[in-house]
This record gives sequence, C-alpha cells and structure tokens, in this order.
Amino acid sequence: MSKTCLRCNKSFNESDVEDEISQKYPSCPDCWKEWTTYAVMVMNEMRLDMSLPEHRKALRKYEKGYFDKTLGEIEKKPENK
Ligand SMILES: [Zn+2]
Repeated sequence: MSKTCLRCNKSFNESDVEDEISQKYPSCPDCWKEWTTYAVMVMNEMRLDMSLPEHRKALRKYEKGYFDKTLGEIEKKPENK
C-alpha cells in the first residue's frame, strides 16, 4: 500500500518501513532513517534510558515534533532548550 510521507510529502511503499512509529507517523524510508539518527542523538544528548517510562515519554515528544509539522512549536534540537 502506498502512503504519503508526513515530512516530505513523497509517496512511499508502506512495506518499506516497518516500525511501530511509522504506523503512527507515516514516513518514507529516507525520513525514517533521518529520524532514527536523530533519535539516537536525542537519547545521547538527554541521556535517555528507554527502560524508564518518563524517558520514553520524553522521546515521544521529540518524535511528535519531528514527524508532525503542525506542532512546530516543539523544539526539535535538544541543544536549543
Ligand atoms: Zn519523507
């Protein structure tokens, strides 16, 4: 099934990206790769521990800010806090 990427509006094949988050926020393989790189950066910068619910919640905020452009007010770079 073809979907439209939330970030770049490109069409992509749904089966190209298999992840729970991409179900929530459709993203093409390119943007998805960018997100995973970004997520690792956020986790390192903020020292997030994915075994802690609070930390997972914090990452979800960045996830939303990254994929959902309507939420432009959410800071996208941890160093800008
Ligand atoms: Zn994209």
